[in-house]
Amino acid sequence: MIFSQITAAPADPILGLTEAFKADPRTDKVNLGVGIYKDEAGQTPVLKSVKLAEAKLLEEEKTKSYLGIEGVALYNQAVQQLLFGKDSAIIAAGRAVTAQAPGGTGSLRVAAEFVLSNTDSKTIWISNPTWANHKNIFETAGLEIKEYSYYQAETHDLDFDAMMTDLQQASEGDLVLLHGCCHNPTGIDLNINQWQQVAKLCAEKGLVPLFDFAYQGFGTGIEEDAQGLRAVAAMVPELLVANSFSKNFGLYNERIGAVTLVAKDSECAARAFSQVKRTIRANYSNPPAHGAMIVSTILNDGELNALWQQELTEMRQRIASMRTLFVESLKAEGVDRDFSFISRQNGMFSFSGLNKEQVARLKDEFGVYIVGSGRISVAGMTKTNMPVICKAIAKVL
Ligand code: PMP
Repeated sequence: MIFSQITAAPADPILGLTEAFKADPRTDKVNLGVGIYKDEAGQTPVLKSVKLAEAKLLEEEKTKSYLGIEGVALYNQAVQQLLFGKDSAIIAAGRAVTAQAPGGTGSLRVAAEFVLSNTDSKTIWISNPTWANHKNIFETAGLEIKEYSYYQAETHDLDFDAMMTDLQQASEGDLVLLHGCCHNPTGIDLNINQWQQVAKLCAEKGLVPLFDFAYQGFGTGIEEDAQGLRAVAAMVPELLVANSFSKNFGLYNERIGAVTLVAKDSECAARAFSQVKRTIRANYSNPPAHGAMIVSTILNDGELNALWQQELTEMRQRIASMRTLFVESLKAEGVDRDFSFISRQNGMFSFSGLNKEQVARLKDEFGVYIVGSGRISVAGMTKTNMPVICKAIAKVL
């Protein structure tokens, strides 16, 4: 017998919260834990552009035969254009290679395993704080994790000097995980000048950036949100990107993302790509087709692309309006603590500064679920649940 010695794993800090939320019998409960976009009615509907693409696929799809290891070619091409821009010199030179992968998580895992099995790099630097699953993914893959400073609690802002000081300690070949935009959990991103300084440091020290790009279009716009990645890519010879379409296409359960590698030249990229494919083959052989076919159909069709961009803009603007309403509603509830920093943050999340006890009281006494770190999913707020949320926060402060 081998199973009786197994100890139970702790509940996942984010998905475990959803399980607790589902089991809660209160009718006015609110889940602001997991990062899922909700519309004004509190629903997560399928985007219209996605429905139209699916109708087209249903009509035109001729086979369910296996995809190649790297997935749908037109999809991978479209991914590169979203990441680096249509006129990118990197794409033109054949320096970028892309493999479709199951979501941002699967892409990060493939990237980590590929690096570990094919290079001397063993260490990855991640921001403190970061998305809870990063540690889990990289540790399980076998990378050694080191942390760089990112957040200054007193100012609710980026501690850029501390970040740079910590990254100075990194050694040649170390990976540096960078959130492309909408940093999770803080919602605080680097400005273009800071991106260039990070790029310069990586280039000088021979560090290899690994971009986690899960929220393109949720910050300020599709092109604008890629400016950090593009600035870094312009200055370093090698990098990796793990991107996800879970959020910006609302394709959460289709598990669709991609891993992209940029090398110093096309020959080196092709050689490395053969090993990326080997990593994939050993994990899940080849990716599922549906999500990639949806994204590829939308991005390669003028009308569907325009509709998707409009829907993405609506999601981004609704979240931004919830940030403003949140700050105003807290004030209206008599909260004197300054929460205005929340309207300066980007993306789905706000790092509220609430402590563990306050987070626990929100859940136990008021049925308002947020992550233990104090991270709140603003994308889950609506005009309807806002009073419940703000009244509860006013009480626990
Ligand atoms: N990276 C970050 C920073 C995320 O927030 C998420 C999703 N919460 C992911 C990656 C993974 O997304 P996916 O669901 O596509 O695996």
